[in-house]
Amino acid sequence: MNIRTLTALIPVSILAAAMAVSNAQKNKKQSNAEKIAANLPKTAPAKPAKARKVLVFSKTAGFRHGSIPTGVESMKQMGKSTGAFEVTATEDDSFFEPEKLKEFDAVIFLNTTGEVFKSKEEGREDRLKKSLVDFIKSGKGLIGTHSATDTYKKWKDYNDMMGGAFAGHPWHTKIRVKNLEPNHPLNAAFAGKDFEIADEIYQFRKDTASADERRMLLSLSGEIVDKGRGNSGKEGLYPIAWLDKYGEGRIFYCSLGHRDEIYWNPDVLKHYLAGIQYAIGDLDADAAPKKITTNGFLKGTRNIVSK
Ligand SMILES: [Zn+2]
Repeated sequence: MNIRTLTALIPVSILAAAMAVSNAQKNKKQSNAEKIAANLPKTAPAKPAKARKVLVFSKTAGFRHGSIPTGVESMKQMGKSTGAFEVTATEDDSFFEPEKLKEFDAVIFLNTTGEVFKSKEEGREDRLKKSLVDFIKSGKGLIGTHSATDTYKKWKDYNDMMGGAFAGHPWHTKIRVKNLEPNHPLNAAFAGKDFEIADEIYQFRKDTASADERRMLLSLSGEIVDKGRGNSGKEGLYPIAWLDKYGEGRIFYCSLGHRDEIYWNPDVLKHYLAGIQYAIGDLDADAAPKKITTNGFLKGTRNIVSK
């Protein structure tokens, strides 16, 4: 090969390499969508009273999770395949203007972070905040996945609605989840059992996420993690999912959702679907707070440190 042929070949090889990378990215996306499709719930636990519209909001003003596109895709597919709801996915906060928001039955804060309504326009942030609170109080639904609690941590109304304010993630490993409500309709996915899963597990600020104020569904069990890493609850409760009421509205939150594969885990998808249908108002479920008497982190339990 002479030098001229070599020079001529270089751009082609660079182009070929770039195309290979681009195809690999495309295939990865397709395969995530395919994995979701293969693991969707077959049916919804409740029949929708009417056609339901859900706003999936994934704007980030802080850390941005790589799992957002997968999470949004899972909500779109699940709503469509079960007929439970239709998704509008956006990162445009103008959807929270009262006139636009009223078209929806519920809002999902999917891995949002930070102060997502912040604006240079005078009065706009307060208007959007009030619009969200009024929307929920009037009888609509609010759902949060994972970092929905790492959003507006200094806005008390939001912390009260969502139920918790993120205060650290001491564990990112395989953990055991305690099924606190084996017979609750929102936990039907877990067939009355505890389960193991790998994800980033949150702890919450002490003035939030209290079992005295909201109905806890799942919590971290102390069986396979180093409880010494946690610092907010020590041997107390580390909740993972809960439901609540707020005014006439309904709330469902689950902290699972850091990793992509959470959004094609068939049991987690079923759990989310039941929670979303509760928040929309189609699935009846008891949201009264209940005292928790069993928990892997109770004093005196032995804990095995995870490798
Ligand atoms: Zn995370």
